Amino acid sequence: MIEQNVKKLLEEIPACNPLGEKVTLVSAVKLQTAEDINRAICAGITDIGDNHVQEFRDKYDFIEGNPRRHFIGRLQTNKIKYLLGKVDLYHSVDRMSLAEELSKRSLAKGITSNILIEINVGEEESKGGFTMSEAKEAVKTINSLPALKVKGLMAMLPFTDDEALLHKLAKGMRTLYDEFKKDFKDFEYLSMGMSGDWKICIEEGSNMIRLGTAIFGARNYNKT
Ligand SMILES: *Cc1c(COP(=O)(O)O)cnc(C)c1O
Repeated sequence: MIEQNVKKLLEEIPACNPLGEKVTLVSAVKLQTAEDINRAICAGITDIGDNHVQEFRDKYDFIEGNPRRHFIGRLQTNKIKYLLGKVDLYHSVDRMSLAEELSKRSLAKGITSNILIEINVGEEESKGGFTMSEAKEAVKTINSLPALKVKGLMAMLPFTDDEALLHKLAKGMRTLYDEFKKDFKDFEYLSMGMSGDWKICIEEGSNMIRLGTAIFGARNYNKT
């Protein structure tokens, strides 16, 4: 199942978005076993993204094939120490205090951490991130912190069947990303798109999608 899903997705997902940028598929691995994750990697997955620090730590030594590592979940500042130096890209820098702490700890360790700044594109209560109107100030401030490299933006679209709304929000994110790209030379990724909306997101200019269900099937939240 996993092998077929990965194979089909790798055929289906265009190599480039309409702007000619390479599209990176990140496999969202929350609640998956190391064995299943390794099957996905064997089938061609090159990038994996974790949500929970504990899961990341538990499975770390059992992941094979040396994939690029992403952290895509909400991160508590007191858990940064477990990820430092092991994560290639932090997608979900959703508040100033997290950026400051990540910068401080990266500096102390003598490394630079690559991050994306999370935008709450639908302005939803339940989601983290900066609003569109806060984004400009936030990106500027965070970009000036030492030991962080701001590589772009991340967003989660609302869960809705309203495709017109999804297109509109995704397009808005791309416009925001393009504005920043003019001023910030390290901007390279717009991480936007999950199993239900990735096609719309790529059409509107996303160049990094995060898929879980489409690879592993429905998650079993009862399995621990
Ligand atoms: C779980 C998760 C995904 C993947 O969701 P699916 O709908 O299963 O593809 C993507 N991004 C984040 C931040 C997630 O937590």
